[in-house]
Amino acid sequence: ASDDDHERREAPATTTDGTSIEVAANVGTVADLEPAVESGADGIGLLRTEFLFLDRSTPPTEDEQYRAYRRALEAFPDDRVVVRTLDAGGDKRIDFLELPDEENPFLGERGVRRSLGPDASLFETQLRALLRAARDFERGEGGLSVMLPFVTTVEEVRTARETFSSVAAALDVDDADRPEFGVMVETPAAALLADAIVDHVEFFSIGTNDLTQYVMAAERGNGRVEPLTDDRQPAVLRAIQATVEAAESEDVWVGMCGEMAGDPDLTPLLVGLGIDELSMSPVAVPRVKQAVTDVRDADARALAERALAASTSDEVAQLIEAYRS
Ligand code: PEP
Ligand code: MG
Repeated sequence: ASDDDHERREAPATTTDGTSIEVAANVGTVADLEPAVESGADGIGLLRTEFLFLDRSTPPTEDEQYRAYRRALEAFPDDRVVVRTLDAGGDKRIDFLELPDEENPFLGERGVRRSLGPDASLFETQLRALLRAARDFERGEGGLSVMLPFVTTVEEVRTARETFSSVAAALDVDDADRPEFGVMVETPAAALLADAIVDHVEFFSIGTNDLTQYVMAAERGNGRVEPLTDDRQPAVLRAIQATVEAAESEDVWVGMCGEMAGDPDLTPLLVGLGIDELSMSPVAVPRVKQAVTDVRDADARALAERALAASTSDEVAQLIEAYRS
């Protein structure tokens, strides 16, 4: 019976009209791989690589990283594995990096800003480990995708992509083995500029934890401003919409890997907005897959359209409630 259960969990989730939505897992350590596989996830939508850099006094070696990325690929041999390059700074402190003492670390040197600045050599080492893992792995349908955190400008994407390409060339990685290259959309700038950024990427993944924080100017995890950090805020929905529209215009896929993606009550809204892939904590995967199979496309699109026209988060909440009943 448990084999049957697992098969059922692994079945791809499609709406009643046959639209497939990839339901993937967020993974934050090697130990998370097993629960991610068990959850029936269709791959990894976000591998947060910070775990390789935490609680140590020196950076992980290229080989150490290579082995970790191989293990992620081996856990999902036929599925997409999206690995995010190091997102240091902000809420993510790394002991051996001398992170600057900033008054507002959330607005400072974090994510790709560090990878293109003081951590350039760490960035190259990480890309080398990733590209070697991609090159050496006999993959099925999926394969490795590389994703940049905290992008705000086209120049960042272009520069990081040049590094990626030159590392790939130096390692003789064939085009067929070359990972997809994409970015997180987790700042208002990236959402507003998505129609320009899209020319330099193969995918977007919307990070609603940070996107909501920055769109609403309300710190994640600060209880005093909690109502403002609600993902149902219409301003957040409009940022998502701008991102999806840009992705569709160039036919690149668009996923979501913030907490919002794992809330089954929001699945119809996200499908209606045009999100292709949802990535979440493994525990949420079965619930969201179930929610996808209950979605009727036309209803979901109508819900999304109304939600985008709403002016308050309460209105959005009411629309979602009405959809459910
Ligand atoms: C996000 O910001 O939504 C995200 C998925 O990244 P993290 O939570 O690691 O900042
Ligand atoms: Mg983030």
